[in-house]
Amino acid sequence: MTRVERAPLRRPQTSLRQSGDRAYAALFEGVLLPVWERAVCRRDTLAQLTGLEESQWDARETRDKAQASALHELLCYAGRNVPYYRELFRKCRFDPRGAHSRAHLAELPLLTREIIAERYDDLIDPAHRRRNGKPCTSLSSGKAPAFEYSGAGEGWRQAVTMRADAWAGYRPGRKGFFYSAGVAGRPLDLKSRLGRALRRETSPESTHADDAARRKALELFKQTRPDVMICDAESGAEFAGWIVEQGLRDWDDLPVICSSESGLLADRAVLSQAFGPGIFETYGSRKTLLVGAECQEHTGLHVSEENVIVELLELGMVAPSPTPTGLQQPQRNRQPAGRGELGDVVVTNLHNYGMPMIRYLTGDVARLASEEPCRCGRSLVRLEH
Ligand SMILES: [Zn+2]
Repeated sequence: MTRVERAPLRRPQTSLRQSGDRAYAALFEGVLLPVWERAVCRRDTLAQLTGLEESQWDARETRDKAQASALHELLCYAGRNVPYYRELFRKCRFDPRGAHSRAHLAELPLLTREIIAERYDDLIDPAHRRRNGKPCTSLSSGKAPAFEYSGAGEGWRQAVTMRADAWAGYRPGRKGFFYSAGVAGRPLDLKSRLGRALRRETSPESTHADDAARRKALELFKQTRPDVMICDAESGAEFAGWIVEQGLRDWDDLPVICSSESGLLADRAVLSQAFGPGIFETYGSRKTLLVGAECQEHTGLHVSEENVIVELLELGMVAPSPTPTGLQQPQRNRQPAGRGELGDVVVTNLHNYGMPMIRYLTGDVARLASEEPCRCGRSLVRLEH
């Protein structure tokens, strides 16, 4: 009898809450987000996002042309303005003015973590010094180096991440639950806290990965009733495993965006059991550089080709210690990995002029997915690992 009386009361409340959530998301996406990005952050993120939502369907030739043009500009800028590249190009007799395709990248040595550690200051464009975004701490075992990001580089990062989020059904202003236990984060300043509140992002305060912290996180998760779960591969799978083991799930399916900086496959089975079958893997970090993400077809990770060039090189030894000049001669002649073969992932970021990342050897391995177009219709190449 009690159930019969309660049921009609709960439905209108739920429906009212859902309507409120939808109305806020529309207000956020249509009004608050443009004001925030343009007036507060002074970025063209939304214009870039609009462009990206169109260019993901471009013909291959159109994208190759746009990518070659962005690369040409980046190389010319770096060669003129950034001390490390000025010196490197001179030593390699590399003239960026003649570099009109990505094939020219092969003429340059790789950028390794050791070089970044040794030549950090020389990798920063003097015109951007102290104006770049602060370095971000890696989510993976601390092995990745920190890069600084110019305002434009950050705008591109935001736009590419928003596009990939939309592939998973996550639009700005919907409630996102961010879970990355065991990761030491920086305390957020007032602007960041306000931004998170407006975007309706929630994350547990504790970064420990013990039972007490998981319980608190779960409590917050239930209070929030998020539309999407965003986590890193390792701690997300651990949290999901704990939920399944304890039999604590009492919510409907929701999509999970699961990021991995190292390209390690997330534990899909346990994530699916805890949150539902919509698991969307991404490669790269939300905080630094999103390299690729899954669409709804789950047939590999579409590379954000408008923002990065990914090369896969035949597997080689880990880079040796740098020479005093920072030139990695032994890394110069590595051939591209064959299609379908695992290769070392090398990334060039096309838009971060504040600290150009050109041929960065990530330490990760991946392979190109089949040439067959993805059923989603997007022409962005796909990675598998
Ligand atoms: Zn696709």
